[in-house]
Amino acid sequence: MSRVYNFSAGPAMLPEEVLIQARDEMLDWQGSGMSVMEMSHRGKEFISIATQAEADLRELLNVPDNYKVLFLQGGASSQFAMVPMNLLQGKKSADYLNTGSWSKKAIAECKKYSDVNIAGAAPDGVFSVPAQADLKLDPDAAYLHYTPNETIQGIEFPYVPETGDVPLAADFSSTILSRPIDISRFGIIYAGAQKNIGPAGLTLVILREDLIKEPLAGTPSMLTYRTMVDGESMYNTPPTFGWYLAGLVFQWLKRNGGLTAMAKINERKAGLLYTAIDSSDFYANPVDPACRSWMNIPFTLADAALDADFLAGAKEAGLVTLKGHRSVGGMRASIYNAMPEEGVRALVDFMVDFEKRRG
Ligand SMILES: *Cc1c(COP(=O)(O)O)cnc(C)c1O
Repeated sequence: MSRVYNFSAGPAMLPEEVLIQARDEMLDWQGSGMSVMEMSHRGKEFISIATQAEADLRELLNVPDNYKVLFLQGGASSQFAMVPMNLLQGKKSADYLNTGSWSKKAIAECKKYSDVNIAGAAPDGVFSVPAQADLKLDPDAAYLHYTPNETIQGIEFPYVPETGDVPLAADFSSTILSRPIDISRFGIIYAGAQKNIGPAGLTLVILREDLIKEPLAGTPSMLTYRTMVDGESMYNTPPTFGWYLAGLVFQWLKRNGGLTAMAKINERKAGLLYTAIDSSDFYANPVDPACRSWMNIPFTLADAALDADFLAGAKEAGLVTLKGHRSVGGMRASIYNAMPEEGVRALVDFMVDFEKRRG
């Protein structure tokens, strides 16, 4: 067996320790005589797994008591609809920041249900975020939605927007658990699991209790936060195996010093790669240095005709899934928590060597 350094944006690498533990527990979870996949979600074994995972997540993110944690299905994309369906609550309009591809998708979904006020955006073609002082906030908005980390463009907000009494909604899919955040600043945060939490198929939602009200008329039960909260994420069969694996990841994070330690490592990993890009005339990153992502780092080669050779050489060196998103071009290295620092060093070494040979 030889494992590669996988720079995929998602589904992405998982910590090897977690995969080994899951393998060891696959056929017989802790003497139960069955796999977690075969357990009733209402049995005491799975309830203990689910409860522990929530407790560990609450500890890692320091989630205040007046927030609910949900383990749902449907991906972050379902939250693009669930947020307006549940949080509009009679308001005519919601504020959105538009900073990239995922913001745009969230905006398009909200437009099915209400007016959208674009409260801030980077100028067209510029990889940046609007400054707080430039936001055109509507004091009567149902909420302000933004994307703290744009996975495709590689843009990360260096600040949390200040919205007064308007609840803040954030799509944390590609940056959750990469560093500490102050949950009390948010009304709701959500994240698809397949980037920095666990396997695809699980969606995490953290929701302030006072926002759990009646949704738009006609909202399906499965898309109603109140139903999911009342059923403790078990209104229907939850994604049990994903929930279990996420729990193993949370324990791995705790063993490794929690999110403060992760932030230090992530800053260092990103620094290695940005330094390599910036100190070369051959590689370039299009993002305003003030808001460069720690998690997703797009970069281009001076000559796009060399892209295919770069990718082939990287693959030979055990560095895979580096091809950039088609909308940005070039390369993209996604370096979530599970990417070891050695993986980033191996990429940098390869880049230096490739430039020497072909640049
Ligand atoms: C990947 C991603 C999504 C889409 O997630 P799904 O779980 O596939 O719906 C949404 N937002 C961001 C920021 C992402 O990175």
